Amino acid sequence: MSKWDSECPDCRGTGWSLVVRDGTEVVFSCPRCGAEDRVDQLFRRARIPDRYISKDFRAYDPDPKYPSQLEALTSSIQFVEGFPEVHRGLLFSGPCGVGKTHLAVAILKSLILEKRVSVRFVDETELLRRLQYSFGPDSPETERELLRPLYSVELLVWDDLGAGRPTEWVAETIRTILNFRYTRRKQIVLTTNLPLKPAGSGYPESLGREQNLAERIGAPLYSRIMEMCQVVEMDGRDFRRQVYKASLDAQQV
Ligand code: ADP
Repeated sequence: MSKWDSECPDCRGTGWSLVVRDGTEVVFSCPRCGAEDRVDQLFRRARIPDRYISKDFRAYDPDPKYPSQLEALTSSIQFVEGFPEVHRGLLFSGPCGVGKTHLAVAILKSLILEKRVSVRFVDETELLRRLQYSFGPDSPETERELLRPLYSVELLVWDDLGAGRPTEWVAETIRTILNFRYTRRKQIVLTTNLPLKPAGSGYPESLGREQNLAERIGAPLYSRIMEMCQVVEMDGRDFRRQVYKASLDAQQV
């Protein structure tokens, strides 16, 4: 029985079922749990970070002041409903804390629970750090071991696109993974905090300006992603700050 659900009603969590055949008790492994072991396996392989493990569609509460949040939730649910017959993946774009990763994880979890899909979550910075480490002699994992699931799973979630240091090696690594998936029609869901469009003209150069996604990851990779994904632009306030502020207010009462 999966730890993601309550106790199995058939075997009460023992993993075994008992039936009487021709007056003899026969024990066999519980078919319901057998199926649910697969769910456990899929969750283990998905590598969803602990802090997001509880995030699902029900836990996402769109802010009515920002209609893009309800639209993003709707697009996410439609993506799950349509999977695997969806033509494109999703690219969630928007500022920090509006729930992009939350929705991406909710998609992964729903696909596992409802459709038994093999999925994988990767955080760009973490992946690149582990890849670089994998070249060293002390690394517990090889580059191949790290990359294989990113090619093979049915849905890959790539969190925080453009967060890694933008070297040519980084761009080439991401391009290779995406190209492989693109040619095999394997879907991807990406999130990014970087703006998609250039900052408005007349922006004071002296203040510097934030790079947009295309500038950060390079035009060829950007255009490949635009082919592969439907853009889901989100706006709103940083949810983490709101929660923090609410807890400070509560302490002052
Ligand atoms: P982003 O990826 O856009 O930076 P996250 O998905 O990491 O944001 O969200 C930050 C935290 O705020 C998470 O714990 C997430 O569950 C929560 N959160 C954000 N927006 C909402 C929302 N509308 N309803 C419920 N929780 C939210």
